[in-house]
Amino acid sequence: AKHEGKNGVRTFQPAMGDETTERVDLERDLRDALVREEFVLHYQGQFDVRTQALVGFEALVRWQHPAQGLLPPGRFIHVAEDSELILPLGAWVLREACRQAAAWGANARGFTVSVNVSAKQFDHADFAQVVRQALTDSGLDPHRLILELTESVVLRDPAAAAGQLARLRELGVRIALDDFGTGHSSLSLLRQMPIDFLKIDRSFVQDSHSADAASSRVLIGIMVTLAHGLQMQVTAEGVETSEQHALLRELGCDALQGFLLSRPLPAGQARALLDPPAA
Ligand code: C2E
Ligand code: CA
Ligand code: CA
Ligand code: CA
Repeated sequence: AKHEGKNGVRTFQPAMGDETTERVDLERDLRDALVREEFVLHYQGQFDVRTQALVGFEALVRWQHPAQGLLPPGRFIHVAEDSELILPLGAWVLREACRQAAAWGANARGFTVSVNVSAKQFDHADFAQVVRQALTDSGLDPHRLILELTESVVLRDPAAAAGQLARLRELGVRIALDDFGTGHSSLSLLRQMPIDFLKIDRSFVQDSHSADAASSRVLIGIMVTLAHGLQMQVTAEGVETSEQHALLRELGCDALQGFLLSRPLPAGQARALLDPPAA
């Protein structure tokens, strides 16, 4: 974009202008994508650390872009979050994940489905109502739905968050603290929050066999002790190797999620994980 400088000198600011245009384009495309229902959910299995049995799925959104193919959330979720679009997109994710989990039927009765929730959704006065509607429409047992929130969302305004969490818990859904260890947790506040699961961020898991191995292992051990002391279950994320699996089991984690066990899969393929392997 060209700007008239103070002295009438024209300056050129290409980067800023281009970025703004790009963002406006992306926002418009996202809006259209919602109308055209171009979003899909992939499901990543979560497994019991000891038995390796499937215990649940995390729903992860993708955009089936007509020209660019399947886009990961890293390509568009920040734009949705910076605009109000995360509200309708987040509501769609909730409805779709609940519908799918309910549709998986009998074999899936015990399995949970975890849904990521953005700050803007959580802060919205109607959020508990949106969750209630998704549960009612799908008929999903509320106990099977886990809402994943990051530390910063919960701890930014603890009083407001406590109220919102209480409303959600009244519905019977459970809460996971996502990316645990990367934010600024206040341990005393954590104790007061009705949280059911801690998800240890994959950065700790992946450092556990690097040069920083010793300190990462100590930290994971502390997080597990903390969580169990507060009656929370621990899921470790980003498990890519059998060495990491063995270590996380030794350190007392309850469930594991990562490429070693399963990648995020389209619903049809994820469904196959539910069936016992053919003899
Ligand atoms: P997240 O909630 O921490 O989700 C886990 C991410 O780690 C996923 O990336 C998953 O594919 C990836 N992952 C899983 N196992 C491994 C592993 O073993 N190694 C490595 N390197 N990565 C692994 P994805 O699907 O690209 O999602 C990225 C982020 O986008 C998510 O991070 C979450 O913050 C956000 N996101 C995804 N879906 C939604 C959604 O429906 N709503 C909102 N608000 N955010 C979402
Ligand atoms: Ca998550
Ligand atoms: Ca995470
Ligand atoms: Ca993350």
